[in-house]
Amino acid sequence: AASESGLLEIRGLIKRFGGVTAVNALDMTVRGGDVHALIGPNGSGKTTTLNVISALYHADGGSIRFDGAQLVGMPSHAIAKAGIARTFQNIRLFGELSVVENVMIGRHVRTHAGFLSALVPGGATAREERATRASAQELLAFVGLDGAGDATARSLPYGDQRRVEIARALASEPRLLLLDEPAAGMNPTETDTLIALLRRIRELGTTLLLIEHDMNLVMSVSDRITVLNFGQHIAEGPPDAIARNPDVITAYLGG
Ligand code: ADP
Repeated sequence: AASESGLLEIRGLIKRFGGVTAVNALDMTVRGGDVHALIGPNGSGKTTTLNVISALYHADGGSIRFDGAQLVGMPSHAIAKAGIARTFQNIRLFGELSVVENVMIGRHVRTHAGFLSALVPGGATAREERATRASAQELLAFVGLDGAGDATARSLPYGDQRRVEIARALASEPRLLLLDEPAAGMNPTETDTLIALLRRIRELGTTLLLIEHDMNLVMSVSDRITVLNFGQHIAEGPPDAIARNPDVITAYLGG
């Protein structure tokens, strides 16, 4: 199927901020079913690339095709509806809401009900509410947080909050999940739990595109890696080839 060769095809992507070209004619292909990592030095354009894919920022040029459909020009809610979900570098949970409610919010993309309606009295039928809550509880079990559903989001340890965010993103049933530094701020135990979770997400058939600085995580979960430097693609390939690539070594060592 076409989706197995290039689920996400980025060609000639450009994003400028004033005089800074953050993404400079980027080409990148994410194959369906892969865990694909986007790495590179600070300021190389990784987060900007995710922000343009999810239409948080508009592209200044180029093309982004998702399963053949052109994403450039689509608003972010349409991109979510097309099957792309994301998490952010900084945790964005509703701290005072319960964990399960935070996950339920991720479901609104897939239901006809509007944002937050599942939580507003009279905003959804009791039956819809029960179904949404039950699937949110299943997702919490999937990410290893069964039992945490009734706690307020802010009361959870940091690593658990990150997994709630992943559960919320999965609640929209994405085909492509974008993760911006999922291991940031995690201790080694939390990172190991995350690595196992990323593998289970991949087994579901969900394609993952992630930015990550933890090279142990990147090298152990990725099928393919794209390396950026100054907004340009300098290498793309499997982890072993990337680790030996002289251009990559130079970019990281600043040689
Ligand atoms: P990375 O994620 O690889 O660290 P970024 O995508 O955050 O890199 O940044 C790439 C470049 O774009 C940097 O020079 C950064 O300062 C600039 N940049 C990113 N976001 C903005 C913004 N909202 N406004 C202005 N410049 C930005």
